[in-house]
Amino acid sequence: MSVPAVEARELVKVYGTGAAATTVLRGVSFRIEEGEYVSLMGPSGSGKSTLMHIVGGLVRPTSGSCLLAGTPLDRLDPDQQAQVRNRMLGFVFQSFYLLAQLTALENVELPMIYAGVPAAQRRERARELLVRMGIGPQLGNRPSELSGGQRQRVAIARALANDPRLVVADEPTGNLDSRSAGEILEIFDELHAAGRTLLLVTHDPGVARRAQRTLHVRDGQLVSQEAAS
Ligand code: ADP
Repeated sequence: MSVPAVEARELVKVYGTGAAATTVLRGVSFRIEEGEYVSLMGPSGSGKSTLMHIVGGLVRPTSGSCLLAGTPLDRLDPDQQAQVRNRMLGFVFQSFYLLAQLTALENVELPMIYAGVPAAQRRERARELLVRMGIGPQLGNRPSELSGGQRQRVAIARALANDPRLVVADEPTGNLDSRSAGEILEIFDELHAAGRTLLLVTHDPGVARRAQRTLHVRDGQLVSQEAAS
């Protein structure tokens, strides 16, 4: 059998200690195959963001492990972790997290600077990605000079900069009007059709249904997995 894109094994996360300890994840296991489009649903506070941050190597599980393409991120030292994350993972967040003082082009170049891509090459790739996302006319705009939908397109271009196998998105349409949200979801459909692995976190059933399979979490546990009909 092929190596899954993501393999979560018995993930447990406890925040705090002693009387203040809160168990947020209670033994979560799942696999996401290469090229799969999976959504993760659950009510607010159920542990979705924590799970996503563990998958992305931003949060360490209290016990259990998470492998990305067979690599256990938490066994690597911080430098190696950052490298693997930069190369294998693209993040898209609800609040975009673009750097306000940089142009759209410079924001997309940033992950390639960390990856050591030469200047001319990274500029060309950033331009190509932004044109593909429909931001060609606004390459030189700063985030404040872009609409919400345009900012999210820039953030998606940035997530794709180092050509990661896996794109993880946390409520990517949460701050957008329905038309912009629809456009962003179409971009995700295209990324999936092009063979990328996607994990999309949402509390919106309409958004979750775009994926091939939906994982449901409740109180820190996986309660069901359903395939799209
Ligand atoms: P969701 O994304 O489903 O809303 P979260 O993973 O953000 O859920 O949060 C799950 C629970 O963990 C919440 O009760 C939240 O208050 C708690 N929590 C999240 N992050 C921390 C933290 N850094 N320290 C303490 N508690 C946290």
